[in-house]
Amino acid sequence: PGALMAGKRGLIMGVANNRSIAWGIAQACANHGAELAFTYQGDALKKRVEPLASSVGSNLVLPCDVTDAASIDAAFEELSRTWGGLDFLVHAIAYSDKDQLTGRYVDTTPDNFAKSLQVSCYSFTAIAQRAERLMTDGGSLLTLTYYGAEKVMPHYNVMGVAKAALEASVRYLAVDLGEKNIRVNAVSAGPIRTLAASGIGDFRYILKWNEYNSPLRRVVTIEEVGDSALWLLSDLGRAVTGEIVHVDSGYHVVGMKNPDAPDI
Ligand code: NAD
Repeated sequence: PGALMAGKRGLIMGVANNRSIAWGIAQACANHGAELAFTYQGDALKKRVEPLASSVGSNLVLPCDVTDAASIDAAFEELSRTWGGLDFLVHAIAYSDKDQLTGRYVDTTPDNFAKSLQVSCYSFTAIAQRAERLMTDGGSLLTLTYYGAEKVMPHYNVMGVAKAALEASVRYLAVDLGEKNIRVNAVSAGPIRTLAASGIGDFRYILKWNEYNSPLRRVVTIEEVGDSALWLLSDLGRAVTGEIVHVDSGYHVVGMKNPDAPDI
């Protein structure tokens, strides 16, 4: 453990369980000396998040459903009362109706389109608005995206459209908040078996495909995403903003299937 994050306070949004990407990032930050707060969505997850938080020395665990502006405000008011400021924030939140993460994108419904974009894209902007007020000494905001924003992935559908919008919002937010030395970046993670990923059709196939065809010939872990996130959240990343960093074993550079890959 080092002191890279000593004296820094960060809010981690999106831990559902110990397989969550947000949890990999939280552990990396805590191991380097950060003080953490967590939000959870709904009472069912409270029981899971509280023990994880306490295992990294945090007892600041707040409810926050990003579809409810009052709930976001309440979480930030509590954070403001307790800490008075904030140095970094991790947004690892996405949602789409499972029924629409299969079949064709063209069949997506207006209701699910709106809900998916609200939770998976707009919520990052809603949170950046509140975080800006607390980050009086500069700061770092990080969200999670996926290659399905850039290229068409089977079954990713409306989530790909939401991630494309999220990546564009990273760039707009970086410009808006840059004057205050608040940096805004995203990690584009390779596929990882999490609760959210279990909603995506044929996820096993996607994992195998990435393993066989990425330059490093393997999939990535939440600990590895955590270590790259640490760079962007810490002062090591102090000149980096508006960036989408791929943490995907290099999969995004590959133009064709590996000719030596076995059949899946
Ligand atoms: P996860 O299921 O562990 O986390 C998703 C989180 O979103 C959960 O904690 C859930 O409570 C939260 N959430 C959903 N709706 C919410 C709402 N209305 N209010 C507040 N929170 C809400 O899965 P994960 O894979 O760790 O997902 C984290 C992020 O990483 C997501 O943005 C996801 O799209 C992204 N991502 C995942 C992968 C992957 O393969 N797992 C790859 C690239 C990017």
